[in-house]
Amino acid sequence: MTGTGAGPRTVRAPRGSALTTQGWQQEAALRMLQNNLDPEVAEHPEKLVVYGGTGKAARDWRSFDAMVRTLQSLKQDETMLVQSGRPVGVMQTHEWAPRVLIANSNLVGDWATWEEFRRLEALGLTMYGQMTAGSWIYIGTQGILQGTYETFAAVAEKKFGGSLAGTITLTAGLGGMGGAQPLAVTMNGGVAICIDVDPRAIERRIEHRYLDVRADSLEHALALATEARDQRKPLSIGVLGNAAELVPQLLAMDAPIDIVTDQTSAHDPLAYLPIGVDFEDMASYAAEKPAEFTQRAREAMARHVEAMVGFMDAGAEVFDYGNSIRGEAQLAGYERAFAFPGFVPAYIRPLFCEGKGPFRWAALSGDPADIAKTDKAILELFPENESLARWIRMAGERVHFQGLPARICWLGYGERDKAGERFNEMVADGTLAAPVVIGRDHLDAGSVASPYRETEAMLDGSDAIADWPLLNAMVNVASGASWVSIHHGGGVGIGRSIHAGQVTVADGTKLAGEKIRRVLTNDPGMGVIRHVDAGYERAEEVAAERGVRVPMREG
Ligand code: NAD
Repeated sequence: MTGTGAGPRTVRAPRGSALTTQGWQQEAALRMLQNNLDPEVAEHPEKLVVYGGTGKAARDWRSFDAMVRTLQSLKQDETMLVQSGRPVGVMQTHEWAPRVLIANSNLVGDWATWEEFRRLEALGLTMYGQMTAGSWIYIGTQGILQGTYETFAAVAEKKFGGSLAGTITLTAGLGGMGGAQPLAVTMNGGVAICIDVDPRAIERRIEHRYLDVRADSLEHALALATEARDQRKPLSIGVLGNAAELVPQLLAMDAPIDIVTDQTSAHDPLAYLPIGVDFEDMASYAAEKPAEFTQRAREAMARHVEAMVGFMDAGAEVFDYGNSIRGEAQLAGYERAFAFPGFVPAYIRPLFCEGKGPFRWAALSGDPADIAKTDKAILELFPENESLARWIRMAGERVHFQGLPARICWLGYGERDKAGERFNEMVADGTLAAPVVIGRDHLDAGSVASPYRETEAMLDGSDAIADWPLLNAMVNVASGASWVSIHHGGGVGIGRSIHAGQVTVADGTKLAGEKIRRVLTNDPGMGVIRHVDAGYERAEEVAAERGVRVPMREG
C-alpha cells in the first residue's frame, strides 16, 4: 500500500495505555476502527474492505480521516453519528450515551435489492457494512472460529458420536470467515477438503495455521483425505478451483464425503466466481457487466447447490452455512435449493434460547499477556463448563492473533455480565496493562432478523419480523454501550437481514462497571425474550430460572 493524504495507506491501531483521545470510550472506538483496517486483520485494507465480500469499515478514505479526526477531539458528553461509513454529525448527549452511533446499509423495504444498493453505492451515498466490519469489532478469523467450532461440534454430537474423527468434510471458501472451517474441523478431530478459487486465500490460511496443506489436484486432495480419515487423524487440505465445478466432480466420483457445507461469499453474487471465468478476470468482469456476471454466478451456485443436494441424497450431513447460497440457487431456478437446512435451526438455536452467542473482547494494550490473563479469568469464572474450558485452552495454543490480541467464546445470559465485570476489575487493579473492549458479532441470540440464517424456521413463523434487532439496539443505547450500530444485509446480503451490534469498554472505572452490568445483562436478555416470545420451551426455562421478566408470561 502506498501514499498518504486521502488515499490508501497502512493503518494500525496504537497500542499501550496512553490516550490519543479525550477518554477510553473514544480511544477504543478509534483503535477498533483502525484495527479493522490493519493489514493483519482486513482482507483488502487498501479498499477499506474488512471481510465478507465487500464489508467495509469506512465509506472512503476521506470519511475514514474525518472519523479519526472527530474521535480524537470528541468529548465525554458527545456522540458521533455515522451514516454508512461516513461521519455526518456530532451531537451533545451525556456520559451514559454511546460515543458513536452507527447506521449502515439500511434501505427502505421495496428498494432493498443489490441492484439499487449498488446504484446508490456508486453514487457515493452508502456502504456495505457486513456485520462487524462497519461496526468496528471484527477480530480476524478467530471471531468466527469458535462459532464454527461449536457448529461442527454439534454436527459431531448429532451424527457421529461426539467427534469428527474418521469423517471427511467438504466445503468451499477460505476467506475471512470461511477460513475458520478447516481449523474448526480438525479441532473436532476430522478431515476437511476446502476449495477456493483464490490461491492467496489458501496460502494465507496455511500461513496462519488454520489450514494444514495444499493439494495439487482434486484427486490428490481425495487421496490425502481418505488416508488421514482411515488413520483417524485430523487433517485439513486446501484445493484450488471453482466449487461450482469441483463439488459436482466429487459427487460424480462417488467421493466418500460425510459432511458438506459452503462458505464462499455467495450472499453477494458479484463475489462468487461463475463457471468459465478466470479468477484474475473476476473483479473487472463483475465491475463491467454486473447483470451478466450476477446471472452466471447464480447459475454456477445452482450447480454447486445441486451437487450439495446430491451428497445429501447419498446420506451426507449437509447444511447451509449462512451465506445465502440456497436463495441464490433458487433465483437461478434450481427447485430443490432448500432441501437441506440452515445451520441455525439445525444446530445453534438451542444456544440462542439461553442468550448464548459470540461474546468477544480485545486488549487495547496490544499485549498478548492481557488476553492470557483474561483466558485464565474465564476458566476460573466458569469451572463447570468443560467445552468452554476446552475451547479456551485450544484457542490459547492454536489461535494466531491478527491485529490487537483478542479472544472469543460463547457465553449466555447471566455469564457475559460476570465476565465483563471481572475484566473491568482487572483493568482497575492493574492486572491488565490497558482497557479492554467487549463486543460481539451481530450473529447473536436477540440481535438479528435474518430469515435465511439466524431466524430461519422460527417456531411461530416470525422469521422476517425485524422489530427485535431494533429493540436490541435501543436497549443497548439505553443501557450504556460505548458504540451501537444498526445494519442491513449483513451475512446473507441486501434485502435479507437487519441486525444490531454493541461494543462496551471496560476502562476500570466504576461507571464502566455499571454500564457493563446493564449492557451485558440486557443484550443477551434480548435473545432470551425473543425466543420466549416465539414459543421456545428452553427459553422459557432460562427466563424462569435466571429471572428474565417477560410481561406476557406474568399475571
Ligand atoms: P470472503 O469474501 O472473505 O471469502 C470468500 C471466499 O470465497 C474467497 O476466498 C473467494 O475466493 C471464494 N470464492 C468465491 N467464489 C468461489 C467459487 N465459485 N468457488 C470457490 N471459492 C470461491 O468472505 P467470508 O468473510 O469468508 O464469508 C463467506 C460467506 O460466509 C459470506 O457469505 C458470509 O456472509 C458468510 N458468513 C457466514 C457466517 C456464519 O456464521 N455462518 C458468518 C459470517 C459470514
